[in-house]
Amino acid sequence: AAASPRPHVVLLTSPGVGHLLPLAELAWRLVARHGLAATLATFTAPGAALASLHAAGVATVSLEDLPADATMEPDFPDRVRRSIPRLRALLRSVSAAALVPDFFCDEALPLAVELGVPAYIFYPTNLAAHAIMRRLVALNDGAAGERRGLPDPLRLSAHVSLRRADIPAGFADSTKPQFARLLDMGRRYRAAAGFLVNSFYEMENAGEEEIKLSAEQDAYPPVYPVGPLVRSCSDEDHGASAACLDWLDRQPACSVVYVSFGSAGSLSVEQTAELAAGLESSGHRFLWVVRMPSQHNELESRDNGKDKEEPLAWLPEGFLERTSGRGLAVAAWAPQVRVLSHPATAAFVSHCGWNSALESVAAGVPMIAWPLYAEQRMNAAILSETVGVALRPREREDGFIPREEIAAAVTELMEEGEKGRAVRGRARDLKEAAARAWAPEGSSSRKMEEVAGEWKAAVLARQKQ
Ligand code: UDP
Repeated sequence: AAASPRPHVVLLTSPGVGHLLPLAELAWRLVARHGLAATLATFTAPGAALASLHAAGVATVSLEDLPADATMEPDFPDRVRRSIPRLRALLRSVSAAALVPDFFCDEALPLAVELGVPAYIFYPTNLAAHAIMRRLVALNDGAAGERRGLPDPLRLSAHVSLRRADIPAGFADSTKPQFARLLDMGRRYRAAAGFLVNSFYEMENAGEEEIKLSAEQDAYPPVYPVGPLVRSCSDEDHGASAACLDWLDRQPACSVVYVSFGSAGSLSVEQTAELAAGLESSGHRFLWVVRMPSQHNELESRDNGKDKEEPLAWLPEGFLERTSGRGLAVAAWAPQVRVLSHPATAAFVSHCGWNSALESVAAGVPMIAWPLYAEQRMNAAILSETVGVALRPREREDGFIPREEIAAAVTELMEEGEKGRAVRGRARDLKEAAARAWAPEGSSSRKMEEVAGEWKAAVLARQKQ
């Protein structure tokens, strides 16, 4: 008799590189390690970066054709609702054992309920963010009409207290339009069968404690930390990417500061110049992924000498010449996972996107936290104050970070002042913990095996009926 087909899981990702990449990695692991079949459904064309998924047997389907750089839009829930007929057909055609929508795809939950397919919501961010969402729902339960934002400061556990300024505005401020949407999302999550969170116990035990405490009262399904889902499929290594790695090969061990603000973060022209000045005066080597400055459209008419498509043209006059030999600036994109695990890389100036943070931790590289938007300020607070793997430069009231602060943070970390040494030591320890989490008996691989086991058992039970 033919072997019975593998139970099939459908994963659904909202747009955004930081959501797509970890969910793709999860899909890959479900196939490679847990004996499942997987299809990753996206709202964008998945792109060449994910070509390796096909080799791993993960099918990808696009639910809509949108530009690859589409980010979260206010009407995203509506797009999920529009995709429901196609998603229903997909789930039926593979007799889905489970649906794994990411945290922004909550509008797909009623479909899972309708079809009797268990839904496990994927959190590409951390346990603290999940705990905050639950706290928000709890605060507003039963409060008909009245909206209650989170307190300031928000005490998440005995060890974690977040200032309002570091909490995403949509959670903290009940007058913001996102507040109602977040509340809806959080309430809808109760229809899920579980949460898969891209974090791991050693990194975020405080978040886990908080969730355990609230679990008794808030009627949410179990949470499984299954991180760090750092991609194991290799980045492309041609063109600009190869140039970064070749350059790193020529630098001494543990000598380079890597600077990057993720797939969408950009600085103002003034802040770009200030960062350049800070890096220059620190005297250290650096690899800087430069993106177009944030207001370049308004400034173009003023500076019409600049090439509007070329990020490096916005660096200060003479900067590249003065730092040549010890600094490399690349436009837009670097093969980050490989850069971070390169022996020459010693520190990471990061916007604290959660994937970047996990990649840094998995490579044992300490960070300088430079959050820009979304939940990045919260991540920066957690990474510097709770986890202890980052230094956080002081910003001015208007958010501007002066060159002296930048140079001081780089020096502290690279020349191992007292704080720098502590942060570096913590990063080294967490690197080992991260590797353990996904080792065969590690906490995250056991959690994933537990969930995969439930999915398989449910399929078997269904077949016997
Ligand atoms: N990334 C990369 N090269 C870059 C910028 C980003 O490979 O030059 C990858 C990075 O490794 C991470 C993802 O893009 O996996 C960005 O996700 P993150 O959560 O850090 O930030 P976001 O882009 O969502 O703000």
